[in-house]
Amino acid sequence: MVNDFVDCISRRHANEPEFLQAVLEVSESLIPFIEKNPLYKKHKVLECMTEPERVIIFRVPWLNDLGELEINRGYRVQMNSAIGPFKGGLRFHPSVNLSILKFLAFEQVLKNSLTTLPMGGAKGGSDFDPKGKSDREVMRFCQSFMTELCKYIGPNTDVPAGDIGVGGREIGYLFGQYKRIKNEFTGVLTGKGYEFGGSLIRPEATGYGLVYFVDEMLTVHKDVLKGKAVTISGSGNVAQYAVEKCIESGATVLTLSDSDGFIYDPAGIDSRKLNYVFELKNVRRGRIKEYAKQFGCEYFPKEKPWGIPCDIALPCATQNEIAVEDAYNLVNNGCMLVAEGANMPSTPEAVEVFQERGLLYAPGKAANAGGVAVSGLEMSQNSMRYSWTKEKVNLKLKSIMQNIHQACVKYGTEENGYINYQKGANIAGFVKVADAMIAQGTV
Ligand code: NDP
Repeated sequence: MVNDFVDCISRRHANEPEFLQAVLEVSESLIPFIEKNPLYKKHKVLECMTEPERVIIFRVPWLNDLGELEINRGYRVQMNSAIGPFKGGLRFHPSVNLSILKFLAFEQVLKNSLTTLPMGGAKGGSDFDPKGKSDREVMRFCQSFMTELCKYIGPNTDVPAGDIGVGGREIGYLFGQYKRIKNEFTGVLTGKGYEFGGSLIRPEATGYGLVYFVDEMLTVHKDVLKGKAVTISGSGNVAQYAVEKCIESGATVLTLSDSDGFIYDPAGIDSRKLNYVFELKNVRRGRIKEYAKQFGCEYFPKEKPWGIPCDIALPCATQNEIAVEDAYNLVNNGCMLVAEGANMPSTPEAVEVFQERGLLYAPGKAANAGGVAVSGLEMSQNSMRYSWTKEKVNLKLKSIMQNIHQACVKYGTEENGYINYQKGANIAGFVKVADAMIAQGTV
């Protein structure tokens, strides 16, 4: 089965490298499992899961501040709705294409299943670049994007959220336009402002959840976060709240980055410096190099932070940001744990290095599932027209991350005792979706 599947999928998606990478990574752990469970083989569940239920591609025309017409391309990949309405973020970044969105949607199916909440998987976005655009331009783009997207989504059909380039500002504009067109106030998006149905802790959820997951990984080894040196990439939503939780746990965060380079602060990023980052990135929308100037530390243009010695690395920027040489740098400098805040930040060769060298390695679909988990909780609160307290949502988030960790241990512990989190997350995520697909006769 392995060769047939790999041949077929490689041929069908030869021009979609990121999607192919995600599918091949997952199938490596799933195919041996499927061979032992012939029902899944008979129903060709994996073959079916790698074909989206629906892909929507559309034109997004909008007016810039000079009154000129600009055209972008919009997408929604509705991958799998076996266990709930489609659910997954929107990404606005010039690199967005079908391959990247299909990889993200495929990963999302397994991730959402791992949370144990009733959510199918999807992903969408546009090649629009919010960087350098005025608020008005972003608003006009979001309105045009939603004018088309609203035909295909709804609180019981498909509930998008944020991702790279889509934060609270964008979700607000998108929600406003949906409401105008449909004349409905519903939970059609998550990550909304608190004033209009957003859940408390949603902005924090991915970063906090990542650190809760790391805590669980360390606990198995009778270790703690306190006193650990942590390198983090990115300086957006996930990175910011990962830093906040690391500080709270007594770890020292040494780095942050953006697509222009990284800062190295040997004294550690404390709460005061983090507040500066919040303001720099979320209000002024500036570059991370300004941090180096502000606090007198080093800035490395066009470089990634993986050469800085650390105990723990948390990649929180984008896919394939840890190449094989970065992985060697990390392990040779004494890194003991890598947990992915971003989706697929480590190349397959890098993952191989981590696993061969016995590192604790957690893939994004497990470690960053906290964001979508709290999105799921936002959907529940919207359905009830009720808001839970911060404490309640945080407790639920923590318990979901603990359960995901347990599921990984259950399906991923190898004979020598090594916990293969990648294998565990893939199998645990797959089983629920596969059983639902078979039961519904969708395969
Ligand atoms: P943001 O847009 O808030 O931040 C993204 C950060 O990554 C920015 O610092 C950005 O720098 C940097 N970055 C983006 N693209 C690149 C690139 N090609 N090379 C180097 N740096 C880059 O996004 P999020 O924090 O929300 O998302 C980060 C990652 O986490 C993504 O992989 C996303 O899919 C994943 N994720 C996000 C969740 C969420 O709830 N937001 C949930 C689960 C996963 P710059 O500003 O220069 O572009």
